[in-house]
Amino acid sequence: AKAQIGVTGLAVMGRNLARNLARHGHTVAVHNRSYGRTKELVEEFGHEGTFLPAETAEQFVASLERPRRVVIMVKAGKATDAVIDEFAPLLEEGDMIVDAGNAHFADTRRREAALKERGLHFVGTGVSGGEEGALHGPAIMPGGSKESYEALGPLLEDIAAKVDGEPCCAHVGPDGAGHFVKMVHNGIEYADMQLIAEAYDLLRQAGGHSPAEIAEVFRGWNSGRLGSYLIEITAEVLGHTDAATGQAFVDVVLDQAQQKGTGSWTVQTALDLGVPVSGIAEAVFARALSGGASVREAAAGLPGPTPSVVGGSLVEDVEQALFASKIVAYAQGFQQIQAASAEYGWDIDPGAMARIWRDGCIIRAKFLEHIRVAYDKAPELQSLLVDDYFLEAVGGAQEAWRRVVVTAAQQGIPAPGFATALAYYDGLRAKRLPAALIQGQRDFFGAHTYRRTDREGSFHVLWAGDRSEVEG
Ligand code: NDP
Repeated sequence: AKAQIGVTGLAVMGRNLARNLARHGHTVAVHNRSYGRTKELVEEFGHEGTFLPAETAEQFVASLERPRRVVIMVKAGKATDAVIDEFAPLLEEGDMIVDAGNAHFADTRRREAALKERGLHFVGTGVSGGEEGALHGPAIMPGGSKESYEALGPLLEDIAAKVDGEPCCAHVGPDGAGHFVKMVHNGIEYADMQLIAEAYDLLRQAGGHSPAEIAEVFRGWNSGRLGSYLIEITAEVLGHTDAATGQAFVDVVLDQAQQKGTGSWTVQTALDLGVPVSGIAEAVFARALSGGASVREAAAGLPGPTPSVVGGSLVEDVEQALFASKIVAYAQGFQQIQAASAEYGWDIDPGAMARIWRDGCIIRAKFLEHIRVAYDKAPELQSLLVDDYFLEAVGGAQEAWRRVVVTAAQQGIPAPGFATALAYYDGLRAKRLPAALIQGQRDFFGAHTYRRTDREGSFHVLWAGDRSEVEG
């Protein structure tokens, strides 16, 4: 018998995806550049289902039923191109190559266009949930043609996480749409993690609470509206004790955050699209700041207040600030998805994205259901912030949110995520922005012209002359 699907690239992610497929009763062809991993998979997990191990690309391709479905799960970048170059000549018209790695969506667009010319479907697919997700049910974001989704969707939906029986997998849109949405998912993940870290820092430094106490606070929050995977694991990490020293684990970890790149891709892309994803950008920059060991050392003597414990409603206030800032980060991310969808003609359904992120992925959270409802109600929603539920949540949180940002500033505790989210909120709701002054400045030094509030047209002031206004 032939395999319904094949996976090439059997490191942690590929191996677990292959096992997930096999556990669901599919016959899975498996292949890896070095045969060792393939052998290991079959030896260790062969009993879980039907695997067809292949030593060569030719054997792998020959073991697949048609149209062939080849899932690539290798290191993103050059490795993906190398694998495509190896397999594409062996495939026939109508066959599908699914790139489930973390590719940049522009690479996916390029690859899709090239393979289309050869009659092959290329399906750039976002997969989130890490190792465990790949095995037990990830969130899956496939791009590519509608036709390819017809042949591939049922298999992917089968192995995806489920919420009330609904799979966390949906066709996102053509060519690079799937990888784009996965990228923004990761950007939102950066923002969410940064906000949670700021909440912890405030509770620690301004609240005077121990990591174990803060773990309890997060546990409590996890059963409320903030309920999410990231809040849950935060409680676990904060509650963990280092075996070697007996200290709180968080106190023995070097405070320099690393990154693999999807966060900065999100921000770079947002800059190109002109979408203000300030929450995601601050999160990427905060990681970069933390990693700048030598500049931090040079600046360690800069004057500032020493944080002291403030009483009052800090814990409740921080919960409000966290929820409001989180809503802003998601609102920005969704706006970026909508902007890209318009730019590239992807026709992405934002409500469907919220639906498939409800489980399986790293940003799975209770409140995604509210995002789904908001977009299902109004697919053309200008911003999540103006949806009834979110408007009320943020409106109700704003006083506490402001108190938290003030406390952070007064105590000298960096809270760039909370502060930038609040500034975005105030910027959006402002009746007048100082952008008017910026237009004046631009007109002054560069004759860039401006528009008026009271008349159509564009205008310029003869700044160096008699300062009269002329049509621009
Ligand atoms: P790695 O990113 O560590 O990649 C290792 C795999 O790539 C091995 O199978 C390796 O083969 C193969 N490979 C590397 N270079 C080549 C090449 N030139 N030609 C052929 N094969 C090559 O594995 P992961 O499982 O961690 O991740 C796979 C993909 O999934 C990546 O794109 C990653 O970004 C993405 N991803 C990872 C997540 C995670 O939590 N780890 C979550 C979501 C997505 P060999 O054994 O022969 O060296």
